[in-house]
Amino acid sequence: MALITRDVRNDFPVLDRKTASGEPLAFLDNAASAQRPNAVIDAMSDCYRRYYANVHRGIHTLSEESTAAYEAARETTREFMNARSTREVIFTAGTTAAINLVAHSWGNQFVQKDDVILLTIAEHHANIVPWHQLSERVGCRVEFLPLQDDFTIDDAVVKERLETLRPKLFAFASSSNVLGTNFPVQRWTKLAHEFDAKVLVDAAQAAPHQAIDVQQWDAEFVVFSGHKACGPSGIGVLYGKEALLDAMPAFLGGGGMIDKVTTTGFTPHHLPEKFEAGTPPIVEAIGLAAALKYLQGVGFENIRQHEHALCEMADNAFREIEGVEIIGPTPDKKTGIVSFAIDGVHAHDIAQWLDTRGIAVRAGHHCAMPLHESLGKTATARASFYLYNTTDEVERLVAAVKEVREKFARTGRRRRRREVTS
Ligand code: PMP
Repeated sequence: MALITRDVRNDFPVLDRKTASGEPLAFLDNAASAQRPNAVIDAMSDCYRRYYANVHRGIHTLSEESTAAYEAARETTREFMNARSTREVIFTAGTTAAINLVAHSWGNQFVQKDDVILLTIAEHHANIVPWHQLSERVGCRVEFLPLQDDFTIDDAVVKERLETLRPKLFAFASSSNVLGTNFPVQRWTKLAHEFDAKVLVDAAQAAPHQAIDVQQWDAEFVVFSGHKACGPSGIGVLYGKEALLDAMPAFLGGGGMIDKVTTTGFTPHHLPEKFEAGTPPIVEAIGLAAALKYLQGVGFENIRQHEHALCEMADNAFREIEGVEIIGPTPDKKTGIVSFAIDGVHAHDIAQWLDTRGIAVRAGHHCAMPLHESLGKTATARASFYLYNTTDEVERLVAAVKEVREKFARTGRRRRRREVTS
């Protein structure tokens, strides 16, 4: 089975390298950050080599070319998300920066003491801490939806919590970066609107893997990062409904976001510049646009099927290994992530052993401590797949996990024997 051809792999130069152990790299840490294809590297180096200058300011050739490329990147991003207008597409430093922007600008203005911000327990810290901070500023409450045993959340539970708590905002990840669970954005947004809640969708884990349609989703805010979608780090996107963004005060102040400044005050620029203070991530926006075009060229349905096949293969194999526990739903309910724990082995030891076999996975709490606490775990190991991973890499992963199991079971037995005889 090779759903995506060798050509895709050849587009990513880093995949040819070996790791410190001398093994060929199997990069299964894509949920932390993905790799970049030549199309992205070339678009960014082309800008630096030929036409880089600051945007929106200079009346000279290079600045005009850079500005045109930066604004073309915004249009590509608008089209990728199906936003109505480029005024609704704000470039930020990433998902974290985008959520902080909303928490400050919208939150400070519209959230009051005792208002509720509703989250799921599966959120990344980027979609928890800014709301705790808002709570410190205005005295609102942060409430969490629990997970069911199958790592999903029923609509009925969502509805009951919305009805009881009447939150000002329901903010949730469309896909969990730990469990992989896909949450039903359109259904939950509709439910939230029935109870007058605004909706923020953290699409950091979804945007790299599926086409996004913000009009269909109908959420007030949608955010994602470039680096998980084959784009550069240092750039992310905040989509917001235009009327709401218009009603929100500017967040960071400085150059670029003003229409006029006097000794006594300022008037903000129109959208989207109002929320883009300072020199923006110019080359990163160009790189992001190249990444989105690249992914669209491969086709999101192809990517989905490919990742699903790899995920299913790993999932099925892990379920056969005694002592391995999968932390997440069945593959039909998730994006290409398999988080797991091995009985009696710390997640860091798993990741370290896998690295000796050339396999990069992540170990820890994956910036989701409340989730891990609710699962009774301090850490998990996570293999996350992307369009360039292969069945061969999954086989290597499964073989290495079996080795971990055997090696640490033996060490455990030796330790136990020593304890008995001493
Ligand atoms: N939310 C989710 C679901 C994520 O996976 C991540 C990145 N791991 C973030 C938020 C934070 O993104 P960034 O670090 O790019 O700001």
